[in-house]
Amino acid sequence: MSLIINTFYSNKEIFLRELISNASDALDKIRYESLTDPSKLDGEKELFIRIIPDRENKVLEIRDSGIGMTKADLVNNLGTIAKSGTKAFMEALQGGADISMIGQFGVGFYSAYLVADKVQVITKHNDDEQYIWESAAGGSFTITRDTTNEPLGRGSVMRLFMKEDQLEYLEEKKIKEIVKKHSEFIGYPIQLVVEKEVEKEVEDDAAEEEKKEEDAADDDDADKPKIEEVDEDEEKPKKTKKVKEVTKETEELNKTKPLWTRNPDDITTEEYAAFYKSLTNDWEDHLAVKHFSIEGQLEFRALLYIPRRAPFDAFEAKKKRNNIKLYVRRVFIMDDCDELIPDWLGFIKGVVDSEDLPLNISRETLQQNKILKVIRKNIIKKVLEMFEEIAEDKKNFEKFYEAFSKSIKLGIHEDSTNRAKLAELLRFHSTKSGEDMTSLKDYVTRMPEKQKHIYFITGESKAAVENSPFIETLKKKGFEVLYMVDPIDEYCIQQLKEYDGKKLFNTTKENLELDDDAEELERLNRQKTEYEPLTKQIKEILGDKVEKVTISNRIVNSPCVLVTNQYGWSANMERIMKAQALRDVTMQSYMMGRKTLELNPDNAIIQSLKSKVQADANDKTVKDLTHLLFETALLSSGFSLDDPSNFATRIHRMIKLGLSIDEDETPVAGPEDDLPPLEQAVESKMEEVD
Ligand code: ADP
Ligand code: MG
Repeated sequence: MSLIINTFYSNKEIFLRELISNASDALDKIRYESLTDPSKLDGEKELFIRIIPDRENKVLEIRDSGIGMTKADLVNNLGTIAKSGTKAFMEALQGGADISMIGQFGVGFYSAYLVADKVQVITKHNDDEQYIWESAAGGSFTITRDTTNEPLGRGSVMRLFMKEDQLEYLEEKKIKEIVKKHSEFIGYPIQLVVEKEVEKEVEDDAAEEEKKEEDAADDDDADKPKIEEVDEDEEKPKKTKKVKEVTKETEELNKTKPLWTRNPDDITTEEYAAFYKSLTNDWEDHLAVKHFSIEGQLEFRALLYIPRRAPFDAFEAKKKRNNIKLYVRRVFIMDDCDELIPDWLGFIKGVVDSEDLPLNISRETLQQNKILKVIRKNIIKKVLEMFEEIAEDKKNFEKFYEAFSKSIKLGIHEDSTNRAKLAELLRFHSTKSGEDMTSLKDYVTRMPEKQKHIYFITGESKAAVENSPFIETLKKKGFEVLYMVDPIDEYCIQQLKEYDGKKLFNTTKENLELDDDAEELERLNRQKTEYEPLTKQIKEILGDKVEKVTISNRIVNSPCVLVTNQYGWSANMERIMKAQALRDVTMQSYMMGRKTLELNPDNAIIQSLKSKVQADANDKTVKDLTHLLFETALLSSGFSLDDPSNFATRIHRMIKLGLSIDEDETPVAGPEDDLPPLEQAVESKMEEVD
């Protein structure tokens, strides 16, 4: 808060935009309530926003006849600075964000303190008395019953006690300029109370005399008030010609027709941008816009926007406001209509205005509404068109993809009808894409003739997967492998089973089809029989840790890998699920743990192990090495170790072996204790130095 109060920020005018936007929201709410219960408007029939500057007292008032706030509302909506948006906003500011972004974080009200050092909110809700909330910022506020101000009927007044250096915002010209700039498209009249200096003509004596004569000549006019006035004037001692009088008038500042009702051909890019900003409080222009109308069996107009960035709380489950505003015949109905657009398109902003829906539609009936279903289908269709248009421009698309790829992937997961279309938008790094990302379409054009399937690997990062043992053979064969390193890729790919008639294969899972020729397959089968004693022995040693031990040709250099069951979690998915605090543990045991250890028969370690087993099936070193191999494979295959200290002990034993330290020579007791020799070595060195 003190950051807002004390900032040297120059663009303080946005406070007015925020307060007008709140007023408009409040009006939307009461209008919606009145659709089902017209008596809700009884307190104040007119719906308006009124700006009242008082230069003498240095006070600016923004009044609305919206829904108002009850005492509890005041506490909940204005009282707590500990809103989630406050923290997010502060973080954004520290990261270089601009104060004008405040509205996006749901704390726009506080922008009043950019220009005022004290704010009063006088408010009357239908269900409560009139209250005054007051705060000079700094966290504390008071709420009292209002017995001094005029009764509002219904609505709120934001009374800003302006800072000494912010008095320009009391100027008519300034206010008009700001409203025009930021709030032109507000759907309610924004009135400005202006002071007009009128010069009142008061007739002088000479004229009066003439008039009297005329009047006398015309007796019929004797009763006219004009004459009475003249009589009064006559009694005044001084005879002035002109009197200056200050009167107050209201002027309406926004007279524009709702933008979506106009013909797209007549609307400029700037107008679309201005409307977008007023709709969303965004400080940047939109990335793309689609303005269309549907006619025929059903009629509606829509104006849809794609922003440049994902909202800061894009995937927060609760937040649902302010995406698409639903209007019925120009009357605002609601801005959180779930049925209008699927969750995965929650980032689309805009307006839909239906000619067919009933005005008094309730939330419950909305869910069943057939008209709404058709509207929704059309919106999705148009949005997909917009995506395709963006995809035509590589630079724009990159920006779009960076911001919304998660939503696209969620869409693939959820929307079976449009899955194929959305798949065209996917981009991944790959073994062949270099710095750029590739589309599936481009991947397919690069496929060697021999290759039948599309291969991908999932993991934590590009660095973690690009040298993975899983893709060694594929690389060698010249088959491209896509890197799927966004956690959501795991969900997306569960549903996207094929593209362009080609199966998508996760290279970390079992039953990988490598498009081998007959010769290669025959060799593999031969090796399987040949290595049977070893695979059997290893399975025995590892017991339940693995489901199966087999020979495979998917690896080139590494001795072995651990693959997962076709339908269970991949190593990467296991990692993602373990990271989720509220995960379902029963699900976990069911989905994980079905691993197959695949051995590389061409690897020297495996070959040597085979000989050892053939010589002595119960060789002690084979047992130790098998565990070590298994644990190393866990790591290189992307899993985590259940018992890292055991693993460390084994490694240390190997190190000792490498250093030719005999277990029995270890001076400190306990075969598991590996550190003392090293420490001692260091210590003796130090002594030498001393
Ligand atoms: P946001 O508008 O994004 O919710 P604000 O900080 O601008 O965040 O406003 C906080 C809340 O205070 C609003 O959600 C609303 O409930 C309440 N509020 C603000 N101004 C008004 C108003 N003029 N009339 C009624 N309620 C208001
Ligand atoms: Mg607001």
